[in-house]
Amino acid sequence: MSKLETIISSNRNFVRPNAFPPLPKSPKKQIAIFTCMDTRLVDFLEPAMGLKRGEAKVIKNAGNTIVDPMSGAVIRSLVAGIFMLGVEEIFVIGHRDCGMAEIDADLVKSDMIRRGISPDVIDIHVPDLKQWLGIFSHPVENIERVVKILRHNPLIPKDVPVHGLLFCPNDGHLDTVVNGYTLESFSAGLLAEQPEAHGSGNCCL
Ligand SMILES: [Zn+2]
Repeated sequence: MSKLETIISSNRNFVRPNAFPPLPKSPKKQIAIFTCMDTRLVDFLEPAMGLKRGEAKVIKNAGNTIVDPMSGAVIRSLVAGIFMLGVEEIFVIGHRDCGMAEIDADLVKSDMIRRGISPDVIDIHVPDLKQWLGIFSHPVENIERVVKILRHNPLIPKDVPVHGLLFCPNDGHLDTVVNGYTLESFSAGLLAEQPEAHGSGNCCL
């Protein structure tokens, strides 16, 4: 079976009449999460935060980075969440061992060209491939940077706290990077942390 057929087949077994009570569009806990598209977070991050279906807006992209700080797709979703759907607080959640950390943009570019993408197209549309991909050196630095971008974005009201958290995709542990109520940053301690310093020991930054 193809992937499409497998998914449609699974769906036929999943859907049951009246099994899922209707939920409101607005998040019951009035929060929005902005996190990474990492596969290990699927069906793991929300339960680790005590969240269930219907309780939070979840926005994802590669590396939970913002490459258009004023009005890009992430800002648009957050503004919609705040002004249309009752979001009162934002949680920026990066994670350890993120695939977007320290990627070699030149290797990505050569792979794109090898797969038939025209070098001219890349140079015209994404001349700064590293910036466009949102590559960062460390997930904690990226979380702190994204929190700052959101905090200073004039489209996001000042009464919306923006928190920064670091998630471990192996043991489900959350660390606070930035407390959005007090603006206190804990990034220095996390940046200095040894990989084996906590949890099951299989976390690595
Ligand atoms: Zn990631």
